[in-house]
This record gives sequence, structure tokens and C-alpha cells, in this order.
Amino acid sequence: MNITNDKVTEYLEGLYRPLNRKLKLLREVAEKHNVPIILRDSETFILNIIRMKRPERILEIGTAVGYSAICFAETFPGADIVSLEHSDEMCLYALENIKKFELSQRIQVKPGDALESLAELRDSITNVDSQGFDLVFIDAAKSCYKEFWDACIPLCRKEAVILSDNVLLKARTASDEFITDRRQKTSVRHMRKYINYITKLDYADTAVLPVGDGVAVSVLKDRQDTVKEQQL
Ligand code: SAM
Repeated sequence: MNITNDKVTEYLEGLYRPLNRKLKLLREVAEKHNVPIILRDSETFILNIIRMKRPERILEIGTAVGYSAICFAETFPGADIVSLEHSDEMCLYALENIKKFELSQRIQVKPGDALESLAELRDSITNVDSQGFDLVFIDAAKSCYKEFWDACIPLCRKEAVILSDNVLLKARTASDEFITDRRQKTSVRHMRKYINYITKLDYADTAVLPVGDGVAVSVLKDRQDTVKEQQL
């Protein structure tokens, strides 16, 4: 189910313009093979945030075949991207695609569980002001968003933007009436907790928007306050 009514969804889909022909083809291939890549309207929205924010360093959690990371890199040539992915198969496809787009110098795919990779990144960063990230895109296991958030915060530069995708879970986050299967309940419970958590933090301002499958846009305030609040 779409989170906006079907006519609105269809209308918005009609407005979509791919960044270029190669990315159009990559989207088509990913969709044909049921790889869950960023939805069209979320892509357009997030790429405009990237145009406005002009991030030098982007951290992505959930690479899949590299589609969104490639979009980010093509949209803003000043950005370098670190993308985390636990599926060996997806890592191979992503690396192949990144090479075809000649972006291997700018997109690094880190294989392994994202929480382990985030801990490694934390150990490797000695100065967050120069080595930290100014934009984070959370798009992996929906039940782990809070853990991803907490692990990302120490890696973020001041005023970093954190984008969380699929937070409305096909409207299920908003109401139980959209839950069609018992197994969906766990991710819905985790997502509601996550939304509740990030919208009440003093160190971040968050807007939850009904774009795509729901995108939360969070902007961090002063990094020192962030660290202090996390320690409380
Ligand atoms: N961001 C990609 C795009 O739009 O092109 C799509 C990412 S897809 C929605 C989510 C990916 O996250 C999957 O490829 C999955 O294997 C990966 N993933 C899920 N949980 C993960 C975890 N704990 N650590 C690393 N990767 C994870």
C-alpha cells in the first residue's frame, strides 16, 4: 500500500526524471530483480537535500547494488561516500556498478554488519571535524534504526543531516489497521520507538515526511551537546 492515495502516487511518479540514462538503466535492472532501492520520489527529494547541503562526506547504511550511492556521487561531485553492506552478493554487484560509473575513487563499500563497521569507523576517526560525516543515509534493517542512529552520532560533524528511509513502513507505523501480517509487528514496534526517540531529542530537529515510504529528515545541533546528551 502507498502512503499517499493512489492517484497522488501515480501523479508524483509521473513527475520523476532520472538523473541520467545510465542510472535509469540501473534502476530498471534493480527493479526487475526485486532489489529494494530508493523509491523515485524519495530519490528526487534526497538528491535536492544533497544539492542544498553539499556534503563532503556521506555515510550510507545499506548499499544494495550501489544505486543510491551512485546517485549521491553523480549529484554532488564534491562528496565522498562510505557505504555499509552485509550481503557479500550485494557488495559484489555494488562494486561492479560503481566501477562501471568510474566512481571507485569516491565510493567505498565496507562489507560486513553495519553496526560492526560503524564501531570500526569510530575507532578509525581521530578528528570528527575533519574526518566525520555531514550526511548519513539510513536504509538497512528496519528494526535496527535506533542502533544505527546511536552508532552514527559520534561520527557526525556539527549540523550533520541524517536521513532515515522507509520510516512509515507502508503506513503501518502510523496505524495498526495497515498491519496485514503478524510478522510485521516487530518492525512496526521498533520503528515507532525510533520515531519517538529521534523526534524528542534536544540535540536534533526531525521532520517526518510522507515522501516515498516515509523519510525522516534530522538536523543535528552542536556536536558537543549531542555527545553530552548521548552520555546522559
Ligand atoms: N540504499 C540502497 C539504494 O537505495 O540503492 C538500498 C538499500 S536496501 C533497502 C537495504 C540493504 O541493507 C540491503 O542490501 C541489505 O542487505 C542491507 N542490510 C540490511 N541490514 C544490514 C546490516 N545490519 N548491516 C549491513 N547491511 C545491511
